[in-house]
Amino acid sequence: MLTIGIDGLRRDAFVAAKTPHLDSLVADGTLCLETRVTSDDVTDSDTVSGPGWTTFLTGVWADRHGVLDNSFKGRDAKAAPHGFALAKQVKPSIRTASFLCWTPLRTHVTTDADIDVVVTPGKNASASTVWKAADQSLAWSAVPVLRNDDLDWAFIYFGSTDETGHSYGFHPSVPPYVAAIENVDRMVGELLEAVQQRETYAEEDWLVLVSTDHGGEGTGHGGGRENPNVFTAPMIVSGAAAMKGQPIQRAEGAAPPATVDLVTVALTHLQVPINPEWKLAGSVDGWLQPASTTAEAISEQ
Ligand SMILES: [Zn+2]
Repeated sequence: MLTIGIDGLRRDAFVAAKTPHLDSLVADGTLCLETRVTSDDVTDSDTVSGPGWTTFLTGVWADRHGVLDNSFKGRDAKAAPHGFALAKQVKPSIRTASFLCWTPLRTHVTTDADIDVVVTPGKNASASTVWKAADQSLAWSAVPVLRNDDLDWAFIYFGSTDETGHSYGFHPSVPPYVAAIENVDRMVGELLEAVQQRETYAEEDWLVLVSTDHGGEGTGHGGGRENPNVFTAPMIVSGAAAMKGQPIQRAEGAAPPATVDLVTVALTHLQVPINPEWKLAGSVDGWLQPASTTAEAISEQ
């Protein structure tokens, strides 16, 4: 299983960008362009990377993980461990890998990565240039691992989209921002090719999850709880076990599709029973096919 995080991915810019590799994932799964990165019930967290990624990686909102902004003050790692840690609590043999270049995530959130790659962006060039280089380093680090390693769950983070948005604007009419999305798509293609080159690929059941921490407006995204260009974003769940193409419909009163669903979807696919004490806020509804139809197809991947 591969989880891909693309920082600051605004939904209409994703639609406008030419992204053949992400499109290939959509063709084999479900895309929701209205995925929430915030909860209406938990209102004290800002629409910035700290709370956004902590929710993405822990499967709970800020009322439990404690991160309200990029200071990470209040981070409660005991109440809200990384998804890798939850998986290993139940199945210690699960093999995990993390590739990221926004180092606060490594400091405050990531634990239990068997392969743990952190690239620190350089300083002697423009922000979008050094973050692009960092992202490419991560992709090249991940390729041999995805191709060869005994691996159950990998997470890779791309930051150049957000940095380019801050420099030039988060909008489909901004060529450098759209180009940054297309450049990430090219690297996604490298990752998917590596997965498909696995010797054991035919016997495995890969699920690929893609989303973001927030969208953007102008050259920022903070204070975006009322702005759907910021608080809704694309999310893709792709692979044999994923629902195919249907718009996500949930029961009246159920929580809308959200990035908080990612950990629940991932653990479900790894056949890790969800412990109610974890108080995960996510749901697999609309993302994964009902268990009865996929039980046979699901292997340890
Ligand atoms: Zn961000």
